[in-house]
Amino acid sequence: MLMVRVAEDELDSQIRSLLLPSPGDGVYARTALFERVIEGLTTFINRQRGPETLILSFPPVMSRSQLERSGYLHSFPHLLGGVSCLEGDEAEVHALVEQGDWVDELSATDLVLSPAACYPVYPMAASGGPIPTKGLLFDVASDCFRRESTHEIGRFQSFRMREFVCIGTPEQVLEFRTEWMCRAQRLAQVLGLSYRIAPATDPFFGRAGRLAAMSQLEQSLKFELLIPLRSEGETTACMSFNYHLEHFSSAWNLVTENGAKAHTGCVAFGPDRLALALFKTHGLDLGKWPAEVRGNLSL
Ligand code: ATP
Ligand code: ZN
Ligand code: MG
Repeated sequence: MLMVRVAEDELDSQIRSLLLPSPGDGVYARTALFERVIEGLTTFINRQRGPETLILSFPPVMSRSQLERSGYLHSFPHLLGGVSCLEGDEAEVHALVEQGDWVDELSATDLVLSPAACYPVYPMAASGGPIPTKGLLFDVASDCFRRESTHEIGRFQSFRMREFVCIGTPEQVLEFRTEWMCRAQRLAQVLGLSYRIAPATDPFFGRAGRLAAMSQLEQSLKFELLIPLRSEGETTACMSFNYHLEHFSSAWNLVTENGAKAHTGCVAFGPDRLALALFKTHGLDLGKWPAEVRGNLSL
């Protein structure tokens, strides 16, 4: 019992020297040391990108109507954050602020905080016409927001996400995902991380959500790369491998050149969680990390 307590305290103090808490739960100022490893991971992931991949870096906000049309509010309304502003001319806005309860006067805008990096890709791909026979590959990144209900180590409200997205035939998307599930394990190995891959479900909302989660498991739509982050026995998802079937093509009318509905899939990295896993495994002194790991991360 005592041993576990000491280990937890050690982890807490380690994390305090990487991420400085702010008044918001699960929101941190990242130190230079933490960001060096994030940069290393970015370069490392860049090297995994396949040829003919379209690279896009999205801002932390996206179109509210696009997220609605993607079905996000059916599945995860509890995680969403919107952008609200005070509206009016100068005198009206001053009056709203001065009356004190200005928060009640906020109006929703046409923007929401992006909950994942890949949502803007599907409408963008659809606007380019039918998906070419060889399929489409994207490399996307975004700061993401989720109104998480707990804030244990590795569960932030504001965090980064990097994704590779494939749009094409069911065979192309499944091959993309299978290949990535193999490659991710090799990547974890060369970074010296312990891991396991396991089937997973998304945290769908409410009673209907529990059924959606069961069907997701039955159809093997989601897998995760899990790494022990908080303790040896407690793993955290540091990557996910997702097959959406026709979900996004139905929303956006994504078709292949022969007129069939396209399928989509994405592979997501959580760089903030991966960086924490690296520090937990190899310690705070980068100079003492194994040479192979430092080489892979260009540190
Ligand atoms: P979890 O089960 O831990 O909530 P998730 O299933 O919600 O994860 P995804 O939606 O698949 O995660 O997101 C892709 C990746 O983004 C995750 O594998 C993880 O590495 C990262 N991620 C997701 N939510 C958070 C968060 N709150 N804080 C930090 N990283 C996160
Ligand atoms: Zn995605
Ligand atoms: Mg989650």
